[in-house]
Amino acid sequence: MRKADCIFCKIANGEIPSSTIYEDDEFRVILDLGPASRGHALILPKEHFKDVCELDEATAARILPLGAKIGTAMKKSLGCAGFNLVQNNGEAAGQTVFHFHMHVIPRYEGGPSIASWKTGSATPEELQETAEKIQNAL
Ligand code: AMP
Ligand code: ZN
Repeated sequence: MRKADCIFCKIANGEIPSSTIYEDDEFRVILDLGPASRGHALILPKEHFKDVCELDEATAARILPLGAKIGTAMKKSLGCAGFNLVQNNGEAAGQTVFHFHMHVIPRYEGGPSIASWKTGSATPEELQETAEKIQNAL
């Protein structure tokens, strides 16, 4: 299903032009308009899913291999040393467009730090309590 007022539905299905680098029946991969680094791309399913929790398993199973394929092409063509596959779910996690997308972000030697966090700390008891809470909700 597509969502009438969703910009990524329109881009994924070709109603709004984009810098497309890959397309098949289920996905379009475009360049991000505000790239974190040269080549920053977004994998968009053509169907509307709000976030990772709404994805069906068949669609989900295709996304990592596609990310690997795009990242490998970036290394060959752009000379990046690596790449991040990043995906945000919910406003608190930094999601700004509520149509599932996977970022493919090329990383260059000496380039800016992207998707990093400061290592925190937790006691074994805290880890155990947290693990049990999550386990009990599965
Ligand atoms: P997120 O914050 O994970 O929801 O990522 C949304 C991304 O979409 C951001 O990196 C934006 O720069 C990018 N973006 C928003 N609108 C467009 C657009 N029309 N075409 C390409 N990229 C876009
Ligand atoms: Zn959509």
